[in-house]
Amino acid sequence: MPSSIHGHAHPAVVSAVTEQLAKGTAYAAATEVEVRYAEALCARNPSFERLRFVNSGTEAAMCALKAARAFTGRPKIAKVEGAYHGQYDYARSARAPEGATPERRGSPDNPVSVPVARGTPASALDDVVVIPFNDTQRALAILEAHGRELACVLLDLMPHRVGLIPADAAFVEALRAWTHANDALLVFDEVITFRADVAGLQAHYGVTPDLTALGKIIGGGLPVGAVAGRADVMEVMNPRAEPVLFPHAGTFSANPVTMTAGLTTMSLYDEAAVARLNELGRRAVADIEEAIRATSVAACTTGYGSIFRVHPKPTPPRNYRETYPTAAEEAARKFLVDALYEEGVVVFSPCTVTLSTPMGEAEDDALVGAFEVAFAKLAREP
Ligand code: PLP
Repeated sequence: MPSSIHGHAHPAVVSAVTEQLAKGTAYAAATEVEVRYAEALCARNPSFERLRFVNSGTEAAMCALKAARAFTGRPKIAKVEGAYHGQYDYARSARAPEGATPERRGSPDNPVSVPVARGTPASALDDVVVIPFNDTQRALAILEAHGRELACVLLDLMPHRVGLIPADAAFVEALRAWTHANDALLVFDEVITFRADVAGLQAHYGVTPDLTALGKIIGGGLPVGAVAGRADVMEVMNPRAEPVLFPHAGTFSANPVTMTAGLTTMSLYDEAAVARLNELGRRAVADIEEAIRATSVAACTTGYGSIFRVHPKPTPPRNYRETYPTAAEEAARKFLVDALYEEGVVVFSPCTVTLSTPMGEAEDDALVGAFEVAFAKLAREP
């Protein structure tokens, strides 16, 4: 599960949560554990000067975008074509296979903001500017066309639906430079990628975002999200400010059960645990690539550390359009996912694997063994 970094029912989490349950699950006031957990997360990343909890990654991305709008006073947001940031209309542009299909997605110079849900207001689509992934020249040309209407650029450094490809450092640096020059904000969505490093995947880039959206593993298996970043930007949500530019609240935000699960979980996900899990992922990917070569199937891998994806394509895709499957690739993906299931391995349906800390080399080997069988079966398919 991408959200459960220590697997299901880790004893330390179960015990801490059980103790908290007996005391209460939701109060209409801040709690000590909320403060302690916020401090612990901020200590992991120097760009987290302030932090607020919410209940999901959707809410975290939404809050980051609304904070950017409130801070800049501008309406539009830019995002990468095909990248998923949750359910907020202003954070969506495409979803394979029903969204940005080849017929609907526009030219690479001008990707279209495609409605994901029926009934999405045209006004929402107009305020979402779509840029291609890792294509600095085209992305900057599109950003320039919207210039000072843009509140922020929202970027996942390794967007899963785009292909789970790490962003090029030059692309990230160019977006940082453009946002600085145009008084817009740079928002990272690390809802998935925070697992990559103690401070998130952003630690691998020499770029500091203004805001970061978090979710998944920081809830320790319970619903969670958080937005963190520059103190002056976060100030727009300060309830004691006068006026409050973005009044922000949530009945269950920072509830003590989630806070307890999250604090316990993340204190166990320290530098050593991150390094071990990333190494386990590197090892699995190397062996899976060896199995691809041995069976001569058309397949390749993308990803980093404890999350990776197997594409039924001969070479790794570079963006959403290249990740978008042909009919034959879609059939091969389904075949692989089913074959893995028959071997006792459940992967996320795009053929994505996330590792968790209870796993060791034995589980890694079992995973690779299942891929070997699945690839061999695929190679025999007519
Ligand atoms: N952002 C990213 C990168 C995600 O992968 C997801 C969920 O998969 C979200 C945001 C939304 O998170 P949630 O499902 O908790 O609303």
